Amino acid sequence: MIYYKTDEEIELIRHSCLLVSKTLALVASEIRPGVTGKAVDRKAEEFIRDHKAKPGFKGYRGFPATLCISVNEGVVHGIPTDIEFKDGDVVSVDCGAYINGFFGDSAYTFALGDISNDIVDLMRVTNESLYKGIEQAKVGRRIGDISFAVQNFAEREHKYGVVRELVGHGIGKDLHEAPEVPNFGKRNSGKKIKAGLVIAIEPMVNLGTRKVLTASDGWTIITQDKKASAHFEHTIAVRKTGADILTDHTFIEEAIKNNPEIKDITAKS
Ligand code: MG
Ligand code: MG
Repeated sequence: MIYYKTDEEIELIRHSCLLVSKTLALVASEIRPGVTGKAVDRKAEEFIRDHKAKPGFKGYRGFPATLCISVNEGVVHGIPTDIEFKDGDVVSVDCGAYINGFFGDSAYTFALGDISNDIVDLMRVTNESLYKGIEQAKVGRRIGDISFAVQNFAEREHKYGVVRELVGHGIGKDLHEAPEVPNFGKRNSGKKIKAGLVIAIEPMVNLGTRKVLTASDGWTIITQDKKASAHFEHTIAVRKTGADILTDHTFIEEAIKNNPEIKDITAKS
């Protein structure tokens, strides 16, 4: 069952989402070659707890960390490790926070140091596909319109692989609520979108095959061909006037501009 949120509840979710966005901005200022995922994860957890919130993922179905950090062929659900990031790594970081009874959820992919152009292109297209999806999140449209927009842009127009096994989701009092929001689908299919719907839209897009498998750690989803993957996610609320993006990537993008070891994919090349 879909739980539609009141305006008050949406503001509480926005509060959680802004904390997530600021945590990812902290990640953007800390992450670089030579730093470990565990070190970044520790800082993120401290930051969230300093704001009287709880990490949204830690302990969720036994996940051991605050951030999901998925490197290179890692798609999502990577566990932070003691391995130092390297020049040329593409690192997807997913973060959740829980405060005042509500979750926020967002992800961003970082390009470390001297990264290949084909990966930068993948990241740009994945990020843009997220906004193509958000454009469809309007009263009267259907979930399938969001799904179609993401898939059409990433897969049909740009020939990347859109992951099928993992999907976006409703969010609120629970991290994962109904409805599922796939990144692939048919126009005018699925549930009708109504005001008060709060969902996380999160395209996971692969440079090569769309096929994925679970790594030996039992958590990390990796591409079957070991080629790179990117992941961008916003939590949004549907209002009568259109989509209201509750998470805010401008905090992250500002931090990237101040970190010379991260490539700014929003800059014109
Ligand atoms: Mg997420
Ligand atoms: Mg999510």
